[in-house]
Amino acid sequence: MTTIELVQGDISRESVDAIVNAANSSLLGGGGVDGAIHRRGGPAILEECRKLRASQYGKGLRTGQAVATTAGDLDARWVIHTVGPVFSATEDRSALLASCYRESLRVADELGARTVAFPAISTGVYRYPLEDAARIAVDTVRAARTDVEEVRFVLFDERAYEAFARQLR
Ligand code: ADP
Repeated sequence: MTTIELVQGDISRESVDAIVNAANSSLLGGGGVDGAIHRRGGPAILEECRKLRASQYGKGLRTGQAVATTAGDLDARWVIHTVGPVFSATEDRSALLASCYRESLRVADELGARTVAFPAISTGVYRYPLEDAARIAVDTVRAARTDVEEVRFVLFDERAYEAFARQLR
């Protein structure tokens, strides 16, 4: 059984085995969660991302996939980078968003992580509607077969927190 917890705050301050990053496919950093994680985590994370680019991910990390690096100075052992879909009004990309959560948990299992913090993937610059994104996140984690004992959704603002809370009720 995986326990789901909700907290409002900055995910880069969480203390867990693995922090999931809403990265972009370049793996070379960005704004939002990505910026906060790299800022607080220090240069070791970016250094490993660059190595991943030079080896397996020359064309970048594909949408819906996940890969782990060190967590640098964060209070975690790993950062799991995943690339959410950009929201589209004409194409249903929910399967790709679900894949982010499933693949991140699969990587967490490979690592042996027991506590994992997720942001609300794709709900920032990628514009996914919060209610839809929250439903996909909660449903996917609930349905996942994983050894992760605790999933903590870390929501930056009250609006996101409330959207996730509605899905858990
Ligand atoms: P994406 O490109 O996947 O949309 P963003 O980083 O732009 O990623 O936003 C994803 C979500 O993370 C948004 O809801 C945003 O408000 C939130 N967010 C931004 N900074 C942080 C942070 N430090 N901790 C947790 N959530 C954050």
